[in-house]
Amino acid sequence: MAFEGLTSKLQETFKKLRGKGKLTEKDVKDAMREVKLALLEADVNYKVVKDFINSVSERAVGEEVMESLTPAQQVIKIVNEELIKLMGSTESKLKPANNPPTVIMLVGLQGAGKTTMAAKLALHLKKHNKKPLLVAADVYRPAAIKQLQILGNQIDVPVFSLGDKVNPVDIAKAGIENAKKLERDYVIIDTAGRLHIDEELMQELKNIKSEVKPNEILLVVDAMTGQDAVNVAEHFNSNLDLTGVILTKLDGDTRGGAAISVKAVTNTPIKFVGTGEKLNDFEVFHPDRMASRILG
Ligand code: GDP
Repeated sequence: MAFEGLTSKLQETFKKLRGKGKLTEKDVKDAMREVKLALLEADVNYKVVKDFINSVSERAVGEEVMESLTPAQQVIKIVNEELIKLMGSTESKLKPANNPPTVIMLVGLQGAGKTTMAAKLALHLKKHNKKPLLVAADVYRPAAIKQLQILGNQIDVPVFSLGDKVNPVDIAKAGIENAKKLERDYVIIDTAGRLHIDEELMQELKNIKSEVKPNEILLVVDAMTGQDAVNVAEHFNSNLDLTGVILTKLDGDTRGGAAISVKAVTNTPIKFVGTGEKLNDFEVFHPDRMASRILG
């Protein structure tokens, strides 16, 4: 699972602190230096780390800690609280449309796990008694449409497709009409990705956005790519004004940086995470649970 390196380093620091009893300002400073290094090694954005350490330090040398009977415990509590704040404080829910269907557009680079996530999200909604429709609007990647149809079949969710010769904007629009006809209350549009960000891709996504006015535009990014994931998020956000980010491959050997930095850098909340290749490997993102996982 992700965060192993970060978690063990933080635990080491906290263990040292606990061994000290009463803490001096120097003890706190030394601990903060170690936390800072651990976060940087976990590939957390430098500015995010700096701001985080400043916020924690400010509180940790205050009376909350210094006059406490369990100062080390107080420092850990502050780190935990600031980490939760950094990742968005509370769960960020999908915003349903006033008039169904709620339209969710999934965007991202190729290989991030977008198509898999479309099916995971559909399954999640289905478990919550919603009726999703998947729309295959990735007309460029060979087999993307077929892949979505196979996944839809597995979870018994209909997949709307017009093949790969039709403009994605028209596919998206027709998909929404189809959802209305079938009385589906969520539409999940799987859009095309590219290996790298390019203007053509961005323009196509903008066109879909302006034509279908989705309720949610969620960027799927690969957590294993660390700060790169955050850069990708910044770029997509500046073009599309994202409503959320989905981190995939959090089961892999990621260092955790993306989970910690994305919200702070892009001011866009993480809404869901993917934790494996199977369709059940999906979680709603809870900043407090993620913080507990990171702190171990
Ligand atoms: P797309 O090009 O963005 O649509 O990506 P795909 O959905 O085809 O996924 C690319 C690869 O990543 C596939 O082999 C998926 O099985 C794999 N994958 C997707 N999500 C996860 C995840 O959360 N964890 C792991 N380990 N693999 C994933």
